[in-house]
Amino acid sequence: MTHVFVAPHPDDVALSCGGLIAGLRELGQNVSILTVFSGTGDPNLLTAYQREALGFGSKAIWPATEAFNRANLANDYPIDETQAPWAASPDRLDETQREADASARRFWQRSSWYRRADIHNRATEGQPLVDDVPQQGAVLTAELIEAEEAGAIAAARRLEDERYALFAEASVVFLDLADAVYRGYEGDAELLGVPRPDDAAPVDLLRREIARLEPQRVYLPLGVGNHVDHQLMREVGLALLEETPAWIMPGPDWVGRVVFYEDFPYALWRDFNHLADLPAGTLDALPDGVSLYPEYAEISDQVERKVSGVTLYASQIDRLFGGRRQMADAVRAHARKVAAIGATGSMAERYWVSTRI
Ligand SMILES: [Zn+2]
Repeated sequence: MTHVFVAPHPDDVALSCGGLIAGLRELGQNVSILTVFSGTGDPNLLTAYQREALGFGSKAIWPATEAFNRANLANDYPIDETQAPWAASPDRLDETQREADASARRFWQRSSWYRRADIHNRATEGQPLVDDVPQQGAVLTAELIEAEEAGAIAAARRLEDERYALFAEASVVFLDLADAVYRGYEGDAELLGVPRPDDAAPVDLLRREIARLEPQRVYLPLGVGNHVDHQLMREVGLALLEETPAWIMPGPDWVGRVVFYEDFPYALWRDFNHLADLPAGTLDALPDGVSLYPEYAEISDQVERKVSGVTLYASQIDRLFGGRRQMADAVRAHARKVAAIGATGSMAERYWVSTRI
């Protein structure tokens, strides 16, 4: 059992929930952070490669005995009796290409780019054959350079997240979906507007990854500030609440387990005081008979630890606050304000817990 905190981006959970996380760890509770939009590339759901890179769902290490018992190994593709076993049919070539791509990605997974292994020796989009260009080494097309720069930024942010996880004694899982800016959202109007109809919330992926962690509670952003990635994660929370426990293969009852947190520093900037401050209709998708009630986490003893945790996100502090001192002041001031709203203690974070009425 664990407390799962869903972070749209690296840093969101440290900023919004750092006090509660420190408190939970003091009590010996397990904390897992699920960072969702930590990627730059293909917004498709997890590929075999990503699953393996995340460290689950693969057979990377076979027991030595099993490796030699070839009778136990199934074919990767159906056997066509009409063809010689070594004949290269198009679908076998495709299969080989897919495998070559997967292992190339595995091999290059520590760098922000990889060289595609083209078994056909054909130029692919944006990447001419090395044989065809009069130079040695990597071919730096504009697409590759862009991808590398984007990859470097995403990699740096993931590293900050990993440092925070180490600091907070939490585990972290990256889903590496493409950040909204890489999905074509431009400017504040779009980034803080309504999610596009073709940009659906990745509910199935999140349900699977959250359920895998067997959460005691799962904390998702309320979406204060309207960043589209935050809104999509709120939609995931609302979609989970919509689900009734299944008859067969029963899943968890999400009501009571799903909790929403207030996105900091947006909640400070927008002077967020109550759910009614959210845009009209935001919580219309709450199922009948389910409501949210506020729960205050007293964080007076944890607030300095929260500040230290946020400090680890060096790339974001100037952009968000203009400096470390301002960040620390903002964290403390907001915690005092929230405690005052709830008339509980001197510093607090507020959570909205789902419940059946
Ligand atoms: Zn965010």
